[in-house]
Amino acid sequence: MTSPAPESPLAAPQRKKLFIRTWGCQMNVYDSTRMADVLAPLGYGPAETPEEADMVILNTCHIREKASEKVFSDLGRLRLLKTEKEQAGQKMVLAVAGCVAQAEGAEITVRAPWVDIVLGPQTYHRLPEMVARASRAAGAQIDTDFPVEQKFDLLPEVNANQGPIAFLTIQEGCDKFCSFCVVPYTRGAEFSRPVAAILAEARRLVAGGAREIALLGQNVNAWHGEAPDGSTWSLSRLLYALAEIDGLARIRYTTSHPRDMDDALIEAHGRIPQLMPFLHLPVQSGSDKVLAAMNRGHKAELFYRIADRLREARPDMALSSDFIVGHPGETAADHAATMQLVEKVGFALAYSFKYSPRPGTPAAGQPFQVPEAEKDARLQELQAVLRRQQDEFNRACVGREVDILWTGPGRHPGQIAGRTPWLQPVHAIGPAELAGRIARVRLTDAHPNSLSAVLLEEKELTPA
Ligand code: SF4
Repeated sequence: MTSPAPESPLAAPQRKKLFIRTWGCQMNVYDSTRMADVLAPLGYGPAETPEEADMVILNTCHIREKASEKVFSDLGRLRLLKTEKEQAGQKMVLAVAGCVAQAEGAEITVRAPWVDIVLGPQTYHRLPEMVARASRAAGAQIDTDFPVEQKFDLLPEVNANQGPIAFLTIQEGCDKFCSFCVVPYTRGAEFSRPVAAILAEARRLVAGGAREIALLGQNVNAWHGEAPDGSTWSLSRLLYALAEIDGLARIRYTTSHPRDMDDALIEAHGRIPQLMPFLHLPVQSGSDKVLAAMNRGHKAELFYRIADRLREARPDMALSSDFIVGHPGETAADHAATMQLVEKVGFALAYSFKYSPRPGTPAAGQPFQVPEAEKDARLQELQAVLRRQQDEFNRACVGREVDILWTGPGRHPGQIAGRTPWLQPVHAIGPAELAGRIARVRLTDAHPNSLSAVLLEEKELTPA
């Protein structure tokens, strides 16, 4: 994902330009916004391209295969740009942030000595100080500590004007150590932000125009935050409190772990109308043997039970999930168990990948790696079923009347775009002023990645 740095209300007069390239998940997108926020008081405003920027940040992700090689090839291109600028008497600060920086900081400084700043996900609040030092000193500034608590305390208030759909990080890090995942090594231990800070940020987002808030965390349903009275709240309690904020029409949370789907949280889905009937709940495999090898800490049975109970609590609940095929030791019978789980549970959306060894993770060194051709065949088989299920889910929506949160103009003149309660993109002919409001439609057609609709009436959940 490539994006100009977001605008910030904290901006000093903008004399310098900042370009941030973001890879990976929604949490990285959120972090890029926060980095733009901390640099705004230094006079950095958004640049559309690296060429026009005085500072370029690569906010990296370590999850996908060859992630670090992609970063190094981008750094090679940026080296040329930096040299050209220096020859023209200009300066460009180059920073690498995110999970690749955390995992491979030392290697970056050796292989790409033209990088000025290397910083891990927990040290963004120190960015202004590092930029100042980088402009004075030669050699890379490295900061890959894990002071996560400090990070949230020291970052400026979040930009409240994120639009109708806003993201709010409530939790970072992970203690689960799945065999294939680098997050516990790059993001550190689980940390939950306190209740008061989250509620204050949510109120600011709603005052700034948000009608939907998605709570973010690597392990969001493991959140357990300290309340002002010193007690500890679980996620369900936080959701009830958020649902009391006037004007907040929709709440979501992602990404969850099956082990942390407790009874109260499942029950909350039946009791909080603002909690949308769509949950991303990664299962990764349907085989107990593979789940154990992945160190997921649960069996397939737990996932079946959670899916049933969520649908009992909220009959229109749709599920999304993640799958990894070809984990070391996965046999044809294990893969068949995954296929069975998919057929039995049924998913509205899913993300599926071939296992690829991540350096430093336990699975990378395990014997019985599955041959590439076998992984390819299993992935194709799985994705064919998941695509069919997504298609069936979208087609089953046609003819239904649902509330849409409108987010802005559509791709064609006169069109507006929005989201269903199940996160499907929707477009309809309608006035641009609907952006930020909720209006009812009849869904008329299903396309591969979106739905079309006709407007029925505007549902005034919030004043214009
Ligand atoms: S629970 Fe999620 S973030 Fe934590 S180690 Fe497992 S896959 Fe990674």
